[in-house]
Amino acid sequence: MNHKSLFSATGTVTLVGAGPGDPELLTLKAVKAIQNASVLFVDDLVSDEIVAYASAQARIVYVGKRGGCKSTPQTFIDKLMLMAAREGENVVRLKGGDPFIFGRGGEEVEHLQAAGVQVNIINGITAGLAAVTSLGVPLTHRQHAHGVVFVTGHAKPGDSGTDWRALAATAHSARLTLVIYMGVSGAGRIQDELLTGLPASTPVAVVQNASMPGQRHIITTLGLLAHDISLSSIASPSVIVVGDVISGLAQASAHPAAFGTA
Ligand code: SAH
Repeated sequence: MNHKSLFSATGTVTLVGAGPGDPELLTLKAVKAIQNASVLFVDDLVSDEIVAYASAQARIVYVGKRGGCKSTPQTFIDKLMLMAAREGENVVRLKGGDPFIFGRGGEEVEHLQAAGVQVNIINGITAGLAAVTSLGVPLTHRQHAHGVVFVTGHAKPGDSGTDWRALAATAHSARLTLVIYMGVSGAGRIQDELLTGLPASTPVAVVQNASMPGQRHIITTLGLLAHDISLSSIASPSVIVVGDVISGLAQASAHPAAFGTA
């Protein structure tokens, strides 16, 4: 079927969750959408093995920081997607993890819908979930955690950001696991603020490159978080998982021998 002649005004944009990195963690829906796309806009954290599912005829546009370039401004990405959709292309926007957990998926949908473009969303496995699963740890547990909070460690410029003190108090009283994205570079401040409501002995895992060949992790405590991050030189992309669900691992591995690959 020729989409261009049938829908001359507008194609569709599908936001596809590429998962944490391992191509085997893609959904079948994601693979089909990637294969059927005529244009793909690809984020930084999406692995080459996943982009390889695209058809040989598809146009692939990298909009991350690959090749040492600065990442493409969000407004420009929005504009490019809109232009492609209006040309009747079958557009796939490939985003790391799940498109609706951080990574501005919500903003992209709002922009496209406001311009009258039909948007579909395909879930992916979010990095925080893959990270703890790779350690054999659950995010919730009837004994340790009644719920889980996905939270960003990186505030929008001009925004005061996450209220870590409120979050610490709630996580303590309601027994919640905290999964912090984009938190490694600000770990010192996050640690100090969380310590106002959570004990220094609270177990913490930091997982870098979850599900990828270069995955590594550290197991530490809230009181030693920033110190152990700098000692292990664990860096982005990483998630920081705070809470008693990590306690089994914390007991199993004595500090500082916990540093290493998963
Ligand atoms: N939408 C994505 C998150 C995008 S924000 C998702 O659902 O996973 C980017 C942040 O996600 C990174 O700074 C890091 O905190 C986390 N992240 C993404 N991929 C990761 C991976 N493979 N391992 C660990 N953290 C990852």
